[in-house]
Amino acid sequence: MSYSMAGGAHLPPRGSSGNHKKAVIITAVLLSLGVAAALGVVVSGAIYSIVRTADELDETRATSAAASAAESLRSQMAGTVRDNAFWDEAYRQLGSPTRDAWLIENWGFSTLDHPLYDMALVIGPDDKPLLHYRHGKAMRVQPGEFFDSSLARIVERARAADGLQGDVHAEFIGTVHGPAVIGAARIRPFIQGIPPPNPYILIFEKDLDAKTINETARKFNLRGLQLTDSRVDSTVAVPIRDVDGSTVGFLSLPSEKSGARSYERVRLLIFGAAAILLLLIIGIGMIGLLSVRSLAKEEARARRSSLHDHLTGVLNRPGLSEYVENLASDVSSSAMIGLCLVDIDGFKAINDLWGQTIGDQLLGAVAARLTKDLPVGTTISRLDGDEFAIVSVDAAGKVAHLQSAVSEAFAEPFTIGRREIEISVSVGVTEAVLSRANFHNLLRQAEMALHQAKHGSAGVTVVFHPDFEAELSEQAKLEQQLIDALDRRELKVAFQPVVDAGNGDLCGVEALARWNSKTGPIAPDIFIPLAERAGLIGILGSQILEEAIVQGSHWPGLQIAVNVSPVQLRNRYFAGGLKATLDKFAFEPHRLTIELTEGVLISDADQAKRSISEIKALGIKVALDDFGSGFASIGSLRQFRFDRVKLDKSLVANIEHDAKAAAVLDATVKLVNALGVPVTVEGIENRYQADFARDAGSHQLQGYWFSKPLSKEELNERFLRRDRLREFRVGGYDTVAR
Ligand code: C2E
Ligand code: CA
Ligand code: CA
Repeated sequence: MSYSMAGGAHLPPRGSSGNHKKAVIITAVLLSLGVAAALGVVVSGAIYSIVRTADELDETRATSAAASAAESLRSQMAGTVRDNAFWDEAYRQLGSPTRDAWLIENWGFSTLDHPLYDMALVIGPDDKPLLHYRHGKAMRVQPGEFFDSSLARIVERARAADGLQGDVHAEFIGTVHGPAVIGAARIRPFIQGIPPPNPYILIFEKDLDAKTINETARKFNLRGLQLTDSRVDSTVAVPIRDVDGSTVGFLSLPSEKSGARSYERVRLLIFGAAAILLLLIIGIGMIGLLSVRSLAKEEARARRSSLHDHLTGVLNRPGLSEYVENLASDVSSSAMIGLCLVDIDGFKAINDLWGQTIGDQLLGAVAARLTKDLPVGTTISRLDGDEFAIVSVDAAGKVAHLQSAVSEAFAEPFTIGRREIEISVSVGVTEAVLSRANFHNLLRQAEMALHQAKHGSAGVTVVFHPDFEAELSEQAKLEQQLIDALDRRELKVAFQPVVDAGNGDLCGVEALARWNSKTGPIAPDIFIPLAERAGLIGILGSQILEEAIVQGSHWPGLQIAVNVSPVQLRNRYFAGGLKATLDKFAFEPHRLTIELTEGVLISDADQAKRSISEIKALGIKVALDDFGSGFASIGSLRQFRFDRVKLDKSLVANIEHDAKAAAVLDATVKLVNALGVPVTVEGIENRYQADFARDAGSHQLQGYWFSKPLSKEELNERFLRRDRLREFRVGGYDTVAR
């Protein structure tokens, strides 16, 4: 069954149970994302590092290749100079008259097409060039004008030669035609001896032109080797320095960038992998998002169901509480909130009569009717059992309308299956300024009003009044006093005699609780229901029982009757407690009678039945009290097999003036007797009533005419001393003429 709510109470999602799950999912997703992202970073880092390392390796290789090319140019020049300068013939020619011709013949002309030098220069001790040929022709410019200033240093070093291996100097040098390699050495005999005093220096020069560079490149297999003035982008350049350390040019090789090239080749694959990783990350994120979403939905569903009553579909108590609390924080301050507590009169009887299924259907129908009939802006909820709460908010403060709307809703009977069920409701109403409303306070006030409504007849509506609070606090005070009194065992027992209808003999006493509080005596009709409501009836009952049994032990042969409230009988351990008390005082079970009112038959009949059989099984007698005052039927008399029935005093009152009442008493006594159950008539206040009851067939009589309830001392005094018993008979019953 499901019913929509009038006005549609909207409840914001909130929850703590799902928060844990959510945190787990979010953590898992973040962890996966973190791992995936870290993986991406590590892999791309590795790729970058591989590319870098490969490129760096290339550069190192290229640098060293260029450097060795430069070195080979130099060492080649050194070798050429060595071969020519350390030459016996050349040395000899220096001192000969054919010297100049020889120099031109051997070195000058060879500059025309010599593969290893373009210029030959021989300098004498006075720095004058003896030979200065380039490309097969005598040079007209001075060597100092052709070469840069580092020439002087080379000549100087060549002159300083001491005849050891390092006597040949090959260097790079700047010339008017650009960078060149130059070699210089003293001309001397091939076999080294003491250096001659006047040094002549042989100098070869080779242009580092395109042809030379290309040849070198071919020789070293260095594709793209170039001589440049400055560093060129995307090349690896090695500076070419002269003897002074000044850069005269750069030998450069195109940078291989094999790492970058490999990267270019696998780039698509890497992009593919990255895309897959990205997809994975997005996938994980999506899954996480969906999980959290569905969790939130599930949570909202669970929350919704936890705030609604399953039977009727309207809000339940926590749902209403939250709804009201949300309202109170939302709405403008002048608005009023009204709360109606509706309790179906006699719902228990309906349940007992038609069965629980019908009862449930009726509750559903009530919820549906209220939802349909009550105005928009009204929220229905079922608090528990047959109790409904209706909340309405009115900016104009006219919540009073709610009351009449609720009463009207129950005017028509309910149709459940083929049954028409007419019900009345008791209603407690309260209202408050919404902005200051507190749900529990409102509910408490409405409950107080409902409590008052239920006190009277059915179908009553009571509006909360502040006096109720005082009443309630009075009750609370009284409850505390009762607790204290029980603590101090201040409750006393009065014993009311029960006499044999035949001979007037005292045959038993009924134990009745008495409370003499500090403020005076309080009637059992006040404190017994109070004890029942406050959960104190168990303690109270056992104190009275103990006292009655202790006294009863002093009165051998006398029946002791003790009143037991239905609330006590609902306790599964009641019979066990009873037995323990009997054992403790060694009291014969058959001398004890438990008096039960019919209330026990109505509420929780099953447990009552179990307790009654347990009590009977102990040998204790069970009497039905106050028969004739309520609903108890002949059927229940049979069903529970009571040992005695006590007719209610209301059946006796007035029989002397009311023939019909007398006939009812007479018939009732006969009826119970016919069922084989002995009868006690209580409330006998005069001789006529006593005679009538006895003549009708009552076995035992009880009432003020015989005796009011007495203290144990009074009872000892007046009845239990043998000589006084006669007095009782005379004063009471025995002398009555039959
Ligand atoms: P009850 O069990 O029907 O007890 C009989 C009540 O009728 C007693 O009132 C008694 O004083 C009163 N009564 C006796 N003879 C007459 C008479 O001739 N005329 C009139 N008008 N009344 C008479 P009491 O003591 O005020 O007790 C009221 C009720 O409180 C009892 O009704 C019983 O239901 C309950 N009660 C008393 N003591 C206990 C107890 O220890 N445990 C429980 N659970 N209930 C108790
Ligand atoms: Ca009684
Ligand atoms: Ca009674």
